[in-house]
Amino acid sequence: ALTAGIVGLPNVGKSTLFNAITKAGAESANYPFCTIDPNVGMVEVPDLRLNKLSELYNPKKTIPTTFEFTDIAGIVKGASKGEGLGNKFLSHIRQVDAICHVVRCFEDENITHVSGKVNPIDDIETINLELILADLETVEKRIGRVEKLAKQKDKDAVAEYEVLVKLKDAFESDKPARSVELTDEQTKIVKGFQLLTSKPILYVANVGEDEVQDTSSNQYVQQVRDYAAQEGAEVIVICARIEEEIAELDDDEKAMFLSELGIEESGLDQLIKAAYSLLGLATYFTAGEQEVRAWTFKKGMKAPQCAGIIHTDFEKGFIRAETVSYDDLIANGTMVAAREAGKVRLEGKDYIVQDGDIMHFRFNV
Ligand code: GDP
Repeated sequence: ALTAGIVGLPNVGKSTLFNAITKAGAESANYPFCTIDPNVGMVEVPDLRLNKLSELYNPKKTIPTTFEFTDIAGIVKGASKGEGLGNKFLSHIRQVDAICHVVRCFEDENITHVSGKVNPIDDIETINLELILADLETVEKRIGRVEKLAKQKDKDAVAEYEVLVKLKDAFESDKPARSVELTDEQTKIVKGFQLLTSKPILYVANVGEDEVQDTSSNQYVQQVRDYAAQEGAEVIVICARIEEEIAELDDDEKAMFLSELGIEESGLDQLIKAAYSLLGLATYFTAGEQEVRAWTFKKGMKAPQCAGIIHTDFEKGFIRAETVSYDDLIANGTMVAAREAGKVRLEGKDYIVQDGDIMHFRFNV
């Protein structure tokens, strides 16, 4: 499964947020075959469509899909030089598919800040720079390897060399790989380098308890928003301490607590959704009297692959899928009505599954 890593400088609220994630954790009875290690937190993906489908089918069981966050502790200045836990930190980031970068946007005299004062942009740049330096090293090593072949006009080497030089220039002006414009061909080449700064990123602005309702007077949040906007990255505003409290509540209590705070959706729920879509993930549903269930797939996947997410036999024996979009089903009220309205389609093995599709797979066993 794809996972998003939680990174940030010390004392910004990472552990608090990760605690909230594990406390909110997915109900393990629903996912008996999942084993997860202690620095992974598995949460259910909030989805109002699933609740609606559940009302429609009234099944014995309703099962949300899940998403995993990985706690990445221990960034320090100089990580790229292998100081302290540095190398380990970088190798952990290498293993995640996206980065949630937590930055401190709350003032609290009792909690020391590593660099003396709250300055989210400095914090962001400190970590980004470590990642850029590590990538610079990767790229320089590769240049050393392909340079000679490129000079001999080896076609692949020339193509690779060109991208490497482009990346190196960016890194030397402190720019991440994700900011470099690449052709499709070059994007493919770069994938092989496994760069840290190619990973999609979002910023998590951790604000004080009294600021969640209204962050307009929090200058730090605005700074983070401006910074993120330049990169085209998203910002999620949360109060990690409050999320930790919310995570202990059941659904009804949670709804009440949120309405008292005057917020519609918890910061953690917003973060889960944002990380999910940052990774290019989408949801299809299966629905019946026994069970209504949400499944995660990667956008662009075809019907047989999506069937394979449920069971490999479904992919091997795939015949076709009976499909209706969520909107069409809801608009018509029932499956029978949707079918009468011609909204239920039979799709074959080349069908690209869409977010919100309700799928019924037909397969040979
Ligand atoms: P980490 O080093 O990034 O994992 O940071 P921690 O989660 O351990 O948080 C460091 C300190 O900041 C702890 O004492 C937290 O209780 C506190 N903290 C975290 N989030 C908030 C917040 O939203 N508001 C305030 N006032 N303190 C917070």
